[in-house]
Amino acid sequence: ESIIKFENFSFKYMNQSHPTLKNINLEIKKGEKVLIAGPSGSGKSTLGNCLNGIVPFSKDGGFKGTLKIKDIEPYERSIFEISNYVGTVLQDQDGQFVGLTVGEDVAFIDENNCVSREKIHEDVDVALDLVKMKDIRNKSPQELSGGQKQSVSLAGIMRSPAEILLFDEPLANLDPESGRRAMKLISDIHEKTGKTIIIIEHRIEDVLEEDFHRVVIINEGEIVANDSPENLFKKD
Ligand code: ADP
Ligand code: ADP
Repeated sequence: ESIIKFENFSFKYMNQSHPTLKNINLEIKKGEKVLIAGPSGSGKSTLGNCLNGIVPFSKDGGFKGTLKIKDIEPYERSIFEISNYVGTVLQDQDGQFVGLTVGEDVAFIDENNCVSREKIHEDVDVALDLVKMKDIRNKSPQELSGGQKQSVSLAGIMRSPAEILLFDEPLANLDPESGRRAMKLISDIHEKTGKTIIIIEHRIEDVLEEDFHRVVIINEGEIVANDSPENLFKKD
């Protein structure tokens, strides 16, 4: 069952003379874990930001073709509506913290959805426990190391109601050890929730041992490969 479908989709930023994404045809199935790879500047973040509505879709388009996420077309919806379909962890985490403490930050989505205090406390505990950050729930997110910040973002995204979780360069700013931990956590989230996971990463050598169903490679705004990691990287 397809949960995301790009059909002949192109996207151009207003201030650019050429489209950044060209004729994208891509179908992602419910529950898949997909890696979007490619060189810096190839359009990976733009593709992700078409999914979560961060790109500036304008009235007269900016895009051609169609993009469906379940039953919606994101360019027809507000970013708030889209966030119920696609949860995102961006690489610049500092801008993403909304709580004064780690606990408040992870609770944010639930509080916005009118969940009871007891239930929130319990859910935040479960999420923080999974990322091994329960003992820092009263710290300010700003005091944390890069790896801890990433873990808190991952705990927060677990509370998202969205069926699709998008991670844009989750390894940026992390040392190799923290990076491995973050990838393991994303795997755990995938396993526990069965959600559709999309990871954007150019440090492909750091993530290839992961259990991706599919790897999509983008170059200069076009999909140049879309296959299982076994087929793509098999050594002969
Ligand atoms: P990356 O995703 O490779 O870490 P960024 O997303 O920050 O890097 O930017 C990718 C490219 O897009 C860079 O070459 C940058 O100069 C360009 N870029 C980012 N934002 C804008 C913008 N508002 N206008 C024009 N170019 C931009
Ligand atoms: P990647 O994530 O693969 O590094 P991006 O999607 O960030 O690539 O950027 C692809 C191209 O899109 C960049 O070269 C840049 O020219 C352009 N771009 C990115 N963000 C913006 C923006 N906000 N406004 C205008 N152009 C942008």
